[in-house]
Amino acid sequence: MTRKVCKTDEEWRQQLTPEQYEVTRRKATEPPFTGEYHDCKEEGVYQCMCCGNDLFDSETKFDSGTGWPSFYTPIAEENVTTETDKSLFTRRTEVLCNKCGAHLGHVFNDGPKPTGQRYCINSAALNLNPSPSLPDKPGGNK
Ligand code: FE
Repeated sequence: MTRKVCKTDEEWRQQLTPEQYEVTRRKATEPPFTGEYHDCKEEGVYQCMCCGNDLFDSETKFDSGTGWPSFYTPIAEENVTTETDKSLFTRRTEVLCNKCGAHLGHVFNDGPKPTGQRYCINSAALNLNPSPSLPDKPGGNK
């Protein structure tokens, strides 16, 4: 995978909170119903907490009842990548940011129409930008 944002482990540690780091760089999963966005209904674009990449539109968010923010499609197919995750007993499909490789969550085939997909994403990997039409700040990253 060609990544546009490459940082060392130490740089990510400094940029992120411990929970954000564990989720995005160590593939941890936040406990359900604890994240900032699982029940969020505000409009905007959910961006990668690590690199600011546009990931999900609030219009595609739905209440999955799982306790994690859930979307039926990414904002653009090329903004995320998927990999097979065999770390648990069942085979799952991991979802990653295509720009920085952040672990976001997993995608399942039991989502609603029109795609039938359920992107089950950690709040800690996301940052809701309520004004996505505004241009990025010079330099982009926080
Ligand atoms: Fe990213």
